[in-house]
Amino acid sequence: MDFEPSPKARETRDRARRFIRERIAPVEGRYWRELAARGNGEDWTRWQVHPLVDELKAAAQAEGLWNLFLPDPVLGGGLSTLDYALVAEETGRSFLAPEVFNCNAPDSGNMEVLYKYGSEAQKARWLTPLLAGEIRSVFAMTEPGVASSDATNMAATATLDGDEVVLRGRKWWASGLGNPRAKVAIFMGRTADASKDRHHQHSMVLVPLDAPGVRIERMLPVFGEWDEPHGHGEVTFDDVRVPASSVIAGLGMGFEIAQGRLGPGRIHHCMRCIGAAEAALELMIDRGLARTAFGKPLLNLGGNRERVAEARIAIDQARLLTLYAAWKLDALGAMGAMTEVSAIKVVAPRVLQQVVDDAIQMHGGAGLTRDTPLGGFFIQARSLRLADGPDEVHKGLIARIELAKARTRDA
Ligand SMILES: Cc1cc2nc3c(=O)[nH]c(=O)nc-3n(C[C@H](O)[C@H](O)[C@H](O)COP(=O)(O)OP(=O)(O)OC[C@H]3O[C@@H](n4cnc5c(N)ncnc54)[C@H](O)[C@@H]3O)c2cc1C
Repeated sequence: MDFEPSPKARETRDRARRFIRERIAPVEGRYWRELAARGNGEDWTRWQVHPLVDELKAAAQAEGLWNLFLPDPVLGGGLSTLDYALVAEETGRSFLAPEVFNCNAPDSGNMEVLYKYGSEAQKARWLTPLLAGEIRSVFAMTEPGVASSDATNMAATATLDGDEVVLRGRKWWASGLGNPRAKVAIFMGRTADASKDRHHQHSMVLVPLDAPGVRIERMLPVFGEWDEPHGHGEVTFDDVRVPASSVIAGLGMGFEIAQGRLGPGRIHHCMRCIGAAEAALELMIDRGLARTAFGKPLLNLGGNRERVAEARIAIDQARLLTLYAAWKLDALGAMGAMTEVSAIKVVAPRVLQQVVDDAIQMHGGAGLTRDTPLGGFFIQARSLRLADGPDEVHKGLIARIELAKARTRDA
């Protein structure tokens, strides 16, 4: 087991850090203020991409800080999962950086799906503009009508009809759906086939968002925040017809693809959580040193130093576990790292949530305003305890693997 980053990873991480510090951080406050001043709220039809994003994207691309999540040395950064983890931690300190580097969810996961499983025609139509950062995409799996943490509950259907596939159903929490540049969804639906087991009854289908029958119903706020211009949307697929060639890797392959999609994606999310937790800890310390009460810096009151120590311990534990999961994913692939990937999916958002909660507390009322990124970090942590599978589902999976080990041990 070796977590030593390669020289290329170090060098990329340093360049990413510099870019975030020198180019993004000075304008990020202005970006959020101007976005809020537009006053669009839930009216996603008025959402626009802020020109700053395109300026920063062009600069990042010119510096080669682009598509770093993709291991391909020509199309992406040529980094292993372990090496990219370092970069993802840096981008987690800023809400803008992942998009500026074209490494944001859900596009990065969708690009990985197309890269690994897409046909040449699918790649040409969708992967190429996604890699260029020209369009955006959504992933539509979760449904309002069924408990979607059990994906076999899925009610939406993808049915073959001649040389077309017909999509029917309602999805929600499709992140990025409100973005005016979102052009394609990866729709997951049931393709009932009695000859196959229950994990080969679902398909992933590429559907243009302007196809007849696709209807965006609304955006869903998280704690009142709309995440303009991306949003999380509810969408109906009403007898949407797309060519059969839009199915990714063949009918019934949805679950297999999902396994591959979610492994690296979860590591990226977790490393971003760790970067965010580091940023929150820095804010907590700065605030605790800068203000005094009862004749002492806040940091020296009550259990505040202990909270700082607990945060450091928790962040370092989470980082090591995430690097271990990344290392195992590189060594054994998604199936060989299932326990570790699920473990970090539980640990990292929880650590972020706790550290941010303590940082908010140290800030007093200021911690709940938009003057700091702490509120945004809290939303990120709380959301991630549900998105990509709730904590309980991941713990259930870990327990299942442990019990299977126990059975073979006893045999
Ligand atoms: C901000 C955000 C962004 C998201 N983005 C996307 C996206 O882009 N695309 C997409 O398809 N989905 C997305 N999701 C949806 C997310 O993946 C689902 O919310 C999640 O999988 C849970 O499904 P559910 O909401 O139907 O909850 P349910 O399945 O109804 O589960 C509710 C609760 O039941 C409990 N529970 C479930 N299973 C178990 C178990 N085995 N043991 C014990 N308790 C259990 C858990 O506490 C769980 O939280 C997003 C969600 C959020 C909040």
